[in-house]
Amino acid sequence: MLDINKIRADFPILQQNIYGKPLVYFDNAATNQKPQCVIDTLVNYYTHENSNIHRGVHYLSQKATIAFENARETVKTFINAKSSSEIIFTRGTTESINLVAQSFGKKFINQGDEVIISAMEHHSNIVPWQMICEEKGAFLKVIPFFENGELDLDAFENLISAKTRIIAITHVSNALGTINPIKEIIKKAHANNIPVLIDGAQGIAHTDVDVQELDCDFYCFSGHKIYAPMGIGILYGKEELLNQMPPYHGGGEMIKTVTFEKTTYNDLPFKFEAGTPNVGDVLGMEKALQYVKEIGLENIAKYEDNLLKYATEKLSEIEDIRFFGTAEHKSAVISFLIGNIHPFDAGTIIDHFGVAVRTGHHCAQPLMDIYKIPGTIRASFAFYNTKEEIDVLITAVKKAKQMLE
Ligand code: PLP
Repeated sequence: MLDINKIRADFPILQQNIYGKPLVYFDNAATNQKPQCVIDTLVNYYTHENSNIHRGVHYLSQKATIAFENARETVKTFINAKSSSEIIFTRGTTESINLVAQSFGKKFINQGDEVIISAMEHHSNIVPWQMICEEKGAFLKVIPFFENGELDLDAFENLISAKTRIIAITHVSNALGTINPIKEIIKKAHANNIPVLIDGAQGIAHTDVDVQELDCDFYCFSGHKIYAPMGIGILYGKEELLNQMPPYHGGGEMIKTVTFEKTTYNDLPFKFEAGTPNVGDVLGMEKALQYVKEIGLENIAKYEDNLLKYATEKLSEIEDIRFFGTAEHKSAVISFLIGNIHPFDAGTIIDHFGVAVRTGHHCAQPLMDIYKIPGTIRASFAFYNTKEEIDVLITAVKKAKQMLE
């Protein structure tokens, strides 16, 4: 299906040894690695094109401006937004959610109102809503999930009320791998005239995202989770909503006119892009999206699903493995514990096999509290991973079990 040797050759970081063993990188849900073409784009930008954009008449500024706005078009096409005005460049998912929570919240959330999130959210999709609720005297309502990590959709319907102002939910759980039925959730929310924000941090690199087909009101993601540099991300928002929302940050770029008496604000998307943008990383992200598109998200999803099945099967053969997140629709994330061994201890031994897994609460402390565990060991796969690498993980897990039990 995929030419894995060719793909792996695109990622220079994968070519190294750790503790004398080939690096096995299974921490893709935290951040994934960057292909050479993305690295080259950054080097080329800073070598030949670096310039501040939008306000310069000189050659370099115009060149950088055109490249930057072309990248916005590429993002628009990648998620099938209606207009490039709906694509706001941010620092990442966290900033995108904070932008909506603060700006939408300032305008539309009032005392006694309610915001619905789910119990499997990353802290980035909990804390910004808590902050605005606290400020406005509003309430956070939480959709529970079943033991297997699937959302309780009946409970969700019961939480909707005339006071619900927005629903913010993750596309894919970073801790459990659950792919949530966001289309169904959006439909139910819209039947009650409630807008929906999707935290797409874990969705964007593993499933085809079509924001018009989903009909979501906001979709947020980080570049670094889709093979692009860190420090760049996207807020997609429907134009009619973004137009009604006040600016988030003030400064250059987001204004039309400024006097000491009054400032008028710029049109979308610039109204939400105060200050000098991260041009180099925007171009890096464009290249990453083109790279992913070339391989094809459908192919990626199929390949990663194969890895998930293989790893689940192999880990299941080890006695005392407990899985967290066994939903029917899952992304390539496996969260598990080995008996009563603390995840940090196991992670340290696994690391010495050259295998990078993540251990801990994965920024989802409330979720860990529900399971009454301190955290999990999480292996998350990308399309450059292989079954042979999973075999190394299995050997490492067996060794950790043997040493720590
Ligand atoms: N939401 C989810 C589901 C995540 O997995 C993450 C990062 O792990 C975030 C939000 C936050 O992303 P970032 O730190 O790139 O802003």
